[in-house]
Amino acid sequence: MEKYTLKKAQEDYPGYIVYEKADGSFSGVPKGLIEKQKVSKPNVKKIIKLHLKRDALYALMEKTDDAEALKILAKRVTENELDLQDLWKFERNVDFHKFWEMPKCKCPRLDNIDAYPTGYYVKSGDCPIHGSEV
Ligand SMILES: [Zn+2]
Repeated sequence: MEKYTLKKAQEDYPGYIVYEKADGSFSGVPKGLIEKQKVSKPNVKKIIKLHLKRDALYALMEKTDDAEALKILAKRVTENELDLQDLWKFERNVDFHKFWEMPKCKCPRLDNIDAYPTGYYVKSGDCPIHGSEV
């Protein structure tokens, strides 16, 4: 079978700037949003780098159960999110960060999806990342 290449993926998804992830799969940044927000080409590259960095941070979080390590990594994920908001020219606002999507987070997912983006989020005492913030 022919290898599915970045070039082919880009042809299949013309509405996106397609990029290859560390695991060899592909993802994309929507062109419509790039145009709407007037994001420059160098900043699109930075956005892709930040997505790859977040994948790497998530992978590290998957590999550890150490609460201190998870908290440090979670902090870097939050910084990554705020940097993305800057590059997209959105308001830099931590309430727009869906922290419950992080690996190992045990905060109530559905409650927080319901509350998004009000900032009135529920954190669980059982969560190794956010538990001590309760
Ligand atoms: Zn949590």
